[in-house]
Amino acid sequence: MKKQPVIKLIFPPLWDIDLPYLSLPQLSSYLLKYNIANNCFDLNLFFWKQLSTRKNLEKFYVWLQEIAINSEIHTDVDINLKNYILVKDYVKLEFDVFFITIMNENHIVNEKIRELLLLFWFNSNTKKYQRFHNVSLDDIPLYFYHDRYYFNSSLSKYAQNSKDIEFLLNDKSENPYYKFYESVFDNITDGECSFYGLSITGINQVIPAFTLAKMLKEKYPNVKIIFGGAWVTQLAAKIAKNPSLFKDVDYFVVGEGEKALYKILTGNIEVISNVLMLKDGKIMNSKAPDYVDLDDLPPPSFIDYDLNSYDIKNTLPYQSSRGCSWGKCTYCSYHILDPFYRKKTKESIYRDLDTLIHKYSTEYICFVDSELNKERLLSISDVISYLKRKISWRGFSKLEKDLTFDVLSKASENGCDFLIWGMESGSDNILYKIRKGTNIKIMENVLRDAHHAGIHNRVCVMYEIPEESDTDFNHTIDFLKRNINYIGSMSFSQFTLEFNSVMFNKMNIIPDNENELLIGYPLEKRETSYREKLERLFLQIGGFI
Ligand code: SF4
Repeated sequence: MKKQPVIKLIFPPLWDIDLPYLSLPQLSSYLLKYNIANNCFDLNLFFWKQLSTRKNLEKFYVWLQEIAINSEIHTDVDINLKNYILVKDYVKLEFDVFFITIMNENHIVNEKIRELLLLFWFNSNTKKYQRFHNVSLDDIPLYFYHDRYYFNSSLSKYAQNSKDIEFLLNDKSENPYYKFYESVFDNITDGECSFYGLSITGINQVIPAFTLAKMLKEKYPNVKIIFGGAWVTQLAAKIAKNPSLFKDVDYFVVGEGEKALYKILTGNIEVISNVLMLKDGKIMNSKAPDYVDLDDLPPPSFIDYDLNSYDIKNTLPYQSSRGCSWGKCTYCSYHILDPFYRKKTKESIYRDLDTLIHKYSTEYICFVDSELNKERLLSISDVISYLKRKISWRGFSKLEKDLTFDVLSKASENGCDFLIWGMESGSDNILYKIRKGTNIKIMENVLRDAHHAGIHNRVCVMYEIPEESDTDFNHTIDFLKRNINYIGSMSFSQFTLEFNSVMFNKMNIIPDNENELLIGYPLEKRETSYREKLERLFLQIGGFI
């Protein structure tokens, strides 16, 4: 008989549904190793599924047609007008064809439809916002970190300070997540479960997560709520000063979650590290994380996941290392929040991948390591060759000197078909300033060699980096044009000053009390045409923004 779960691990909306997010399957398998029964629930996927039921899509279809009929575009669709124009041909289809088209495209055609579907859901479930409704997309890059998608429906603009969070938790008519959770509450809760663990990766999940915590506490006052994830880790110092955030949340796990969660669940509270909790009205501060030995981690468990429901099929995420082996880029906070680079041995990777391949019929592995350096690329290649299975894989990397043609060819021969490169700039001056540890000559060589080895190169570019002059930016454009034959796709984003990064600390920015939970800091607005220039190249090269 299946054991009653002690904890339900939940991944709240709003996020994309490309793949299952790795944090919960990894925590789940670790707890199972120590006989702690648990259950994972991808509430984000569930949310999207609810939005794309036939009944809801019927209403959505009528709503889209109304917009099409009105020559005067709805004021609440203004900011999504671009999206509407891109998808308007769908509305010309008969509903059944529209429905089938959408379902065949994995139930939501693309990002554009997704945003409109969200806006429709949001407008049908809430009264109009007084303060923040319909923030213009043009304002997003500076103010909302990693949040260009879904910002209006995730209510992330309310997640920048605890007062706004509280406001939305107290006003059900302003917060559509209440209505959503009420309609599906039995799907979310789990009988006698005494703990709920919510993983918050980005600001888009903050309001949905706090709303759920409040509802769980109201219905089951004795359950304990645990929050973890990158958002908690980034803001630990601020959370530690803010008792109001502990109203419905008993523990905030800072950094790595495995050991902390185990200790909370086994009542080992006194020896706990990297956890914030309220005791006698005071917040107990976190100590250094108790790091897990990566080779002790069992392969992630996806048994609770409906893997066919994700956009990318037959693919699973996997992490072979934590931290970053380079750890010097001045705009990045990752290496500061997780300062110890650790990696799994080839034997552990072999054991894990062998399990994933056999248990879940995986054909493609998406490595989510922060950076696959030479050693990682070679180790993974060895493992794939020992597995003697046709497996393809991809990951993130940095264009650095020791990624020679031989290294890249070996990776390619062993299934690597796609690398995402954090290129950032095509100016040596800027690369030096942000401590990228490379230069344009090296970058060109690596891109060319990877391309000739048969790997798709996706480059990620940042613009309006502090101190980036027009000359620097033009070097970036020239670089991209010069190497266009080697670049398979690109993405670009406006520079955001990351809280906790070396650059942030150097700039001595005093966080504004009104936005104490901000992670990406606005810099002075610059009037440049960088974005338009990159957009033009993007249309030529292709890729994702
Ligand atoms: S940007 Fe990437 S390579 Fe640079 S320090 Fe951060 S994680 Fe490491």
